[in-house]
Amino acid sequence: MKKINIAIDGPSAAGKSTIAKRLCSKLGYVHLDTGAMYRCTALKCLNNSIPLDDEERVVAMLKDTDIVLTPDGKVFLDGEDVSKAIREDAVSMAASDVSKLENVRKELVARQQKMAEAKGFIMDGRDIGTVVLTDAEVKIYMTASALARAQRRYKQNIEAGIETSDVETLAKEIEARDYQDMHREHSPLKKADDAVEIDTSDLTIEEVVDRIYQLVEPYLQENA
Ligand code: C5P
Repeated sequence: MKKINIAIDGPSAAGKSTIAKRLCSKLGYVHLDTGAMYRCTALKCLNNSIPLDDEERVVAMLKDTDIVLTPDGKVFLDGEDVSKAIREDAVSMAASDVSKLENVRKELVARQQKMAEAKGFIMDGRDIGTVVLTDAEVKIYMTASALARAQRRYKQNIEAGIETSDVETLAKEIEARDYQDMHREHSPLKKADDAVEIDTSDLTIEEVVDRIYQLVEPYLQENA
């Protein structure tokens, strides 16, 4: 069957990763969570006391940094499993801070484009449809209300055993991070002109997966 690439962008906790994982199982595709790469960069800065706004030092560090995303969803930073550590609340805002740096983006975007060269990937992030995979056959812009997103993130944190703030605090953190991601100078979060917008607030996971699958199906025919 013909393979394509699928780009999913949107604000935090809109359901991008959950949907990407489900779709990957259905299609036999590989999920690339690009947010994890910004999170790894932030975590390493925090661990090494590198200021998050010192572009020169962050980029130098990154050039010497190995980030591996495994097909089963684990994240390795310089060989260490950091799958859980990168999800801590403190790392979220730090990731948004380092993601403002133009040359950090250049380095990570180049790695992401190389990863997806072979097709058959679902990549989620903030700039996938607009910068990383502008030629992705299917582009989704996923949103949900601030409250729905905070509630989901709270539930995810509890289930994963990650220390979490309450829903109200999470909502404030999420809004502050989205504002920063949407208003930064380089590659701000925005809907690509050719992306299909899906508001997941009142949809089940299966409903969202079905909606995207309908967009993907026509491309799977050999002669499409
Ligand atoms: O998706 P996730 O919430 O894990 O991403 C963490 C942060 O990384 C985002 O808030 C955003 O600032 C940054 N990011 C980005 N571009 C991407 C993916 C994530 O700027 N493609």
